[in-house]
Amino acid sequence: MKGANAVSARPDYSRLPAIDALLRHPGLRNVLEDFGDPVVTDMARNVISRLRSELSEGKALPTHDQIADRVVRQVTRLMSSNLRPVFNLTGTVIHTNLGRAPLAPEAVEAMRRAAGAAALEFDVSSGKRGDRDSIVEDWLIRLTGAEAATVVNNNAAAVMLVLNTLSEGRECIVSRGELIEIGGAFRMPDIMSRAGAILREVGTTNRTHLRDYENAASPETGMMMKVHTSNFVVQGFTKMPTEPEIAGAAKTAGIPFVNDLGSGMLIDLAAYGLPHEPTPAEAIRDGADIVTFSGDKLLGGPQAGLIVGRADLIQKLKKNPLKRALRLDKMTLAALEATLQIYANPAKLTERLPTLRLLTRPATDIAAIASRIAGAIAKQLGDTVTVDCLACHSQIGSGSLPVDLLESTAVRITPNGPRRGSGSRLEALATAFRSLPKPVIGRIADGALLLDCRCLEDESEFTEQLSYLAP
Ligand SMILES: *Cc1c(COP(=O)(O)O)cnc(C)c1O
Repeated sequence: MKGANAVSARPDYSRLPAIDALLRHPGLRNVLEDFGDPVVTDMARNVISRLRSELSEGKALPTHDQIADRVVRQVTRLMSSNLRPVFNLTGTVIHTNLGRAPLAPEAVEAMRRAAGAAALEFDVSSGKRGDRDSIVEDWLIRLTGAEAATVVNNNAAAVMLVLNTLSEGRECIVSRGELIEIGGAFRMPDIMSRAGAILREVGTTNRTHLRDYENAASPETGMMMKVHTSNFVVQGFTKMPTEPEIAGAAKTAGIPFVNDLGSGMLIDLAAYGLPHEPTPAEAIRDGADIVTFSGDKLLGGPQAGLIVGRADLIQKLKKNPLKRALRLDKMTLAALEATLQIYANPAKLTERLPTLRLLTRPATDIAAIASRIAGAIAKQLGDTVTVDCLACHSQIGSGSLPVDLLESTAVRITPNGPRRGSGSRLEALATAFRSLPKPVIGRIADGALLLDCRCLEDESEFTEQLSYLAP
């Protein structure tokens, strides 16, 4: 430690326990038994090296029991999952960074059952080889009215597969108003070039006419495409041909019309007081030859890209070698099948499908839960903070608009004390909530931590862990 504190005496490193002595400490017996020598030895070395620098900074040496305890905590942290369950109190219901749609218990149970050997590509009645898509294909046909269906890893993969299969080396006609970026590096023009399709933009940002599509069609054209622009609106002097019109133009040109719905909800959300989201069934009825949509957005299932449409085109998609690279695993197929089955009974949908339940949760229920947990938080944190309830709006998320629709209530936690340094006190508060055994993720706005209670269902699980927060 050259250049360390010149005035103090050289720290006495000999007082640090040796690694093998530390490993023999009775406090480590359980972690050694559960997790084995290699990780416990690694963590013991970490702790000793940390203590070495603490000693050089002039800190006191903890007792051997305390040192063993530090090792246990490090081992336990290492051996717990990195994919931690959290409370999503951000106010965004379908939050991409927090895993999008929460799955229904039926979907979770289906994954558990599929985890062992399962008839994934095996027809149990004939004993012959089967097709994994058949696990969900009939359900997708039933719920969308399409002729056929296939599934891949996510909707970005679905779009990629469709473009590559139907438009490789050929032009894909799309309106300039629909060349979207949806975040996470998904930009339509980039996906197209990676899929080998040649982008043929038509119209302008705000206005595209049917004749723009018609005039662009040539022997070089592979397909016409419509992309649902869910995450922004173009207002004012705007025009887009209807879907049946584009479908008609594609038919005249003898090429497929593909509609990428993005979220794509299987049922009419307007019936639940939510903004109408185009359904795959409507898109098929309006003449799309292929429709693509996500499994884990409004649909409320696992991450997947669902593709429905004309049987001959679906057959082509399945024969593309890319399909093999993008295929779904059995766990996802199991969860997807169970989720689709929930749609079989629309009367029970808001009860059994968590996404829809959260999106339709009565504002009075949310206000009541907010008021109760505000009380619990105020009691725990004492006069270090001011806690109150704030009327706010939740967001659907995953690009669905509008943002001012879902009335909700947030618990607002404002650090007390002088204005100076209030930013770092607020950060510390947010960190403390994120450091709970099941991290609580809120959002910071106007000098306060906001916990939107729309997605808080297990109230006692939330309040029980509040005791870990220092007052
Ligand atoms: C979300 C979205 C995608 C991508 O779907 P992922 O399931 O996230 O891969 C593609 N197109 C549109 C219009 C979308 O909204």
